[in-house]
Amino acid sequence: MVRTGEQYLAGLRDGRRVFYRGQLVEDVTQHPILRVPCTHSAFLFDLQFDRDLSPPLAVEDGRTGETVCSFYQVPTDREALRGRAELIEETTKRSGAVFNIVKVIGSDALFALRIVSRALDQAKGTDYAARVQAYHEKVSREDLATVVAQTDVKGDRSLRPQQQRDPDLYVRIKERRPDGIVVRGAKAHITQAPVADEIIVIPSRAMTDADYAVAFAVPANAPGLTMICRPLLELEGARHPLEGPRVLRHALVEALVIFEDVFVPWERVFLAGETEFAGPLAHMFALWHRYTAISYRAAQADLIAALGLEIAEANGIADRSHIRRDLVDLILFAEIQRMAARVAASEHKVDGLTGVCYPNPLYVNIGKLYSNTHYLSALQALIDCAGGLAITAPSGDDFANPNLRPLLEKYLAGSPQVSSEKRFKLFLMLRELVGLLGGLESVTMVHAEGSIEASVIELLRTYDFASSRVLVDRLVGETA
Ligand SMILES: Cc1cc2nc3c(=O)[nH]c(=O)nc-3n(C[C@H](O)[C@H](O)[C@H](O)COP(=O)(O)OP(=O)(O)OC[C@H]3O[C@@H](n4cnc5c(N)ncnc54)[C@H](O)[C@@H]3O)c2cc1C
Repeated sequence: MVRTGEQYLAGLRDGRRVFYRGQLVEDVTQHPILRVPCTHSAFLFDLQFDRDLSPPLAVEDGRTGETVCSFYQVPTDREALRGRAELIEETTKRSGAVFNIVKVIGSDALFALRIVSRALDQAKGTDYAARVQAYHEKVSREDLATVVAQTDVKGDRSLRPQQQRDPDLYVRIKERRPDGIVVRGAKAHITQAPVADEIIVIPSRAMTDADYAVAFAVPANAPGLTMICRPLLELEGARHPLEGPRVLRHALVEALVIFEDVFVPWERVFLAGETEFAGPLAHMFALWHRYTAISYRAAQADLIAALGLEIAEANGIADRSHIRRDLVDLILFAEIQRMAARVAASEHKVDGLTGVCYPNPLYVNIGKLYSNTHYLSALQALIDCAGGLAITAPSGDDFANPNLRPLLEKYLAGSPQVSSEKRFKLFLMLRELVGLLGGLESVTMVHAEGSIEASVIELLRTYDFASSRVLVDRLVGETA
C-alpha cells in the first residue's frame, strides 16, 4: 500500500545515528535544517494521492493487485521506460525543480540488481535473484524510501581497493558468518540517506578482490551505521522567505555514510565475493541512474531557461541579439537532455534473461555528458541575461521594511512591462540559484551520477565504430 508523507515521516523516528554540524540529531523530522529534506521526500509520498499527476505515481501492481509506487515497477516495454522518465521530470517540477530522489534511485539499483543477479545465478548456481526479488517486493509493498550508496571514499584514486594503505577506504566484507556478513567502510555524498528507510549498497567499480565485491541493503537505523551530513549552506543562508523560494521547502541532504562492522543477514546480501559481477553491477546501476539524471535535469533546465527569459524581459532586453543567443543556449541545455532521454527509451534494449527493458547506453551517456559539460555555460548564459543584481540585490528583509521598499521599487525598476516587485523577486530567485545553490549545483552537475570521465569512458566502451569504420576502410581499399 502506498503511504502518505505523514506515515513516511513517522517511520524516520527510529533511533538512527545522524550528525549535523557535529551534533547528534535526536529526530531528523524535527531538526531545524534536516526537517526540509524530510518534508521534501514526504512531498513525493503525498504526490501518490494527487489525481492530477500525469502519468500517475500510484499504480496497481499487475501481480498482486496492490496499489504501489510506479517507480518500483520494472519497465518491460518502451512506454513504461518513457513513462518513468516523464514521471521523474514531472515530480521534479512539482518539487520546486529539486530532484525528488528517494525510491527513484533505489529502483535504479533494484533494476540493475535484478538483471545482474540473474546472470550471476546462471553462471554460478547461486540464489541471489530470489533475494533481490524478495527485497524488491518488500520495499514496493511497504512503500519504503530507498537510497543508494555506491561511491566509496576511495582514498588514493590511483590505487585499487586492496592496495590502499587503509583497507576500509572501500566498503568490504570484514567477516562471513553462517547467518550473514559483517561489513566495514564508508560511502560518500549519499543523497537523502539520513532521511531514508533503506540504504542499498553496491560496488563503485570493477573489483578484483572478493571482499570488495559486495552488494547489500540495510535499514537506515542499522547498528554500526553513522551518517555525517553536509551543512545545508543554501538553507542556512536563506534568512528571509523571499530569499529561498525553492530551498526553504525543497532541499536534499548528502551524507558520509560509515559502516562500522554492520551485520547484514544473508537475505539482504546481493553480491558477496563474485568479483566478475561487481563491474557489470556498477555499470548497470550507473546506466539506470544516468537515465534518471537526464530526466530530472531536463526539468531543472526548463526552470533555468524560463528564468533567463523572464529576467531578460524584466530588464527590457529579451529581443537583443546576444540575449537571444543566451536563450538559445538555455533551450539547447534543456532539450538535448530531454531528447537524449526520449531516444534512449525508444532505442531501448531488453535483457534476455529477465525481460527488463533498459535505456540505450549510447544516448544516455551522450545526454549525461552534455549535461555535465554544459551546466556552467548555461549558468553563464543565465547570469548574462540577469546582470549583477543576481548576486548584489538587497535582502528580503530590506524589501519587507516599509521605509525601504518604496526606494527599492523606485530604483530597482526595469521594463515597465514587469512590476518592480516581480523583478526584485526574480533576482532573489536567481541569487538562490547562483549564490546559495551555486556551489552545490555546479558540483552536482559535474559529478553526481558519475563524473565527466565516467561518461567519456562509458561512451568509448560501448560505442560501435564498426559500421562507420567500413566507410573509411572501403575508401582506402581495406574491405570489399
Ligand atoms: C551532490 C552529489 C550527490 C551525490 N549523490 C550520490 C548518491 O546518492 N549516491 C552515490 O553513491 N554517490 C553520489 N554522489 C557521488 C558521485 O557519483 C561522485 O561524486 C562521482 O562519481 C565522482 O566521485 P568522487 O566525488 O569521489 O570524485 P573523484 O572520483 O575523486 O573525482 C575527481 C577527479 O578524479 C578523477 N579520477 C578519479 N579516479 C580516477 C582514476 N582512477 N584515474 C584517473 N582519474 C580518476 C575523476 O575523473 C575526476 O576528474 C553524489 C555526488 C554529488 C556531488
